[in-house]
Amino acid sequence: MARSRPRGGWLPLLAALLAAAACGAAEDKPGLLELTADSFVPTLQGLDDSRWVLMEFYAHWCPACQRFQPEYEKVAAFFAARGEAEPVVTVSRLDCANFGDMCGKFKVHGYPTMKLGLAADLAALALDKLTVVEPASRHANSVIAFLEKQLDAKFSGSKAGAGGSTDGAASGAATDKATAAAAVVGGRKGGAGLGKGGGAAIDGVQPHEHAAELAPASRARADLNDIEGATITSWQYLGASPLLLRGPEARQALKDWVELLADAHPVERCQLGAQRLRASLPEYWPDDADEPRKPLQGLQICPGSDFKDWSGCRGSVADKRGYTCGLWQLFHTLASRLPDSDNSGAVWLAAVKGFVSSYFQCSECAKHFVRHAGGEEAVAVARKRDAVLWMWRTHNIVNRRLGAEEAEDASKGDPAAPHVQFPPASLCPQCRRAEEGAAAADEAVPWDEDAVHAFLLSYYSGEAPLDAAPATGLRSRRSSWSDAGLVVVLVAACVYAVLRRSGQYALKKVHSRSL
Ligand SMILES: Cc1cc2nc3c(=O)[nH]c(=O)nc-3n(C[C@H](O)[C@H](O)[C@H](O)COP(=O)(O)OP(=O)(O)OC[C@H]3O[C@@H](n4cnc5c(N)ncnc54)[C@H](O)[C@@H]3O)c2cc1C
Repeated sequence: MARSRPRGGWLPLLAALLAAAACGAAEDKPGLLELTADSFVPTLQGLDDSRWVLMEFYAHWCPACQRFQPEYEKVAAFFAARGEAEPVVTVSRLDCANFGDMCGKFKVHGYPTMKLGLAADLAALALDKLTVVEPASRHANSVIAFLEKQLDAKFSGSKAGAGGSTDGAASGAATDKATAAAAVVGGRKGGAGLGKGGGAAIDGVQPHEHAAELAPASRARADLNDIEGATITSWQYLGASPLLLRGPEARQALKDWVELLADAHPVERCQLGAQRLRASLPEYWPDDADEPRKPLQGLQICPGSDFKDWSGCRGSVADKRGYTCGLWQLFHTLASRLPDSDNSGAVWLAAVKGFVSSYFQCSECAKHFVRHAGGEEAVAVARKRDAVLWMWRTHNIVNRRLGAEEAEDASKGDPAAPHVQFPPASLCPQCRRAEEGAAAADEAVPWDEDAVHAFLLSYYSGEAPLDAAPATGLRSRRSSWSDAGLVVVLVAACVYAVLRRSGQYALKKVHSRSL
């Protein structure tokens, strides 16, 4: 394709650079053009017509995006190092957690999503001219191979990354406009981009800077502040993504989720907020409507909340932990606060699965979770105890996978909070049957599930059950016998105390008389 003059002259590009410069300081990410909703169109309009743009739609809180980030940076460095060699590819990205509207316009449902197109087509939102980039794996070389095929090009046989001949170090030679723009636009707007109580991540924090402030690992309770934060954040992301709010499945998922929050949320204002939402939903999103008739954004899930930042879930590295940590805790807490009826666990599971499937936009996370939630073990979830233990096991499966990845490459996680099997022996020594089973990533930790169940109820709901036996017929029989035994013992103790006191009183009287 013939090269042409930049569209619209240099003014839009200059405007974009100035606007982008206002977003934050440059980061050391050669060739990576970080855009905002404001800089998106003018920056792309300022590029040559023949320039291809690889655009990643991501969210700063999304673990799958965080894990992909170093690879994406290698792709950016690779193309920056190629300079003006045809075909020229600019590597760019947009944080959908902050600019959800723009991502909605590109019909982005989950993160990360990559699209490839000519700069002019991206600027014009010509969706039919864009290609969804689906490499065989989320590795830099795989992405480059996909582009090579798509653009019918040969990228000189080089591999991305430090081992290749066109590695990141060479990228300083690249002096094209996009690279210059990237240097200016590199600063990313993270943190609570959705306003008060939004995805409050720590912006620009260096590793370990906050490590000293982290809550000690031995905290014996889930954190209500973080649970409230996750409730608000999830509601804001959901409301800011109209694309998600479509169709009967999404409507049912929303109804079930709000219903669960209204019944079991541990924070009073969130429970009241959810109860109000439950009453308003039929008006906002009637059963016969494919999408909400009124915007949900105006509705508050935790009215009067003063949530500002994560506490126990606060990461020691920018953007790590936070929202997803709070969300797990919310799921666990909701399970531990269910009534102990025949099907409360099944109702809980349907609501959590529906929420993750329809509204949790880390695509990789949601895919794994939903697959697991449709499995054999999930079918057996009926009562509260089933739900509490299923959630615990499921979370530990994710912990094991992430812990193994972190063991190979510590930068994949938060070094101050490695993923281990929960609860660690330090929190619940009685949860493990033998000390040798305490290894962090051990497949076969010999759990005492009754003790784990009792621990989780206490940790997530403050409930401390008298016995931790299974919630089966056997348990109710055992409970009623032990309850009866307890009553007999208490009555006997009272009678004894009364008799003893009256005896002492009589003795005292005798004694005082004899004095
Ligand atoms: C549904 C879901 C699926 C996810 N899938 C992925 C994925 O596929 N890939 C990925 O990279 N990230 C995934 N994540 C994110 C990831 O699990 C973590 O949330 C993230 O890495 C932050 O970890 P964290 O150290 O804050 O602890 P988290 O794992 O977020 O845990 C939060 C807190 O829950 C408690 N806890 C930990 N384990 C258990 C347990 N077994 N039972 C009860 N309580 C427990 C601890 O107090 C811990 O601090 C997912 C998140 C969610 C909510």
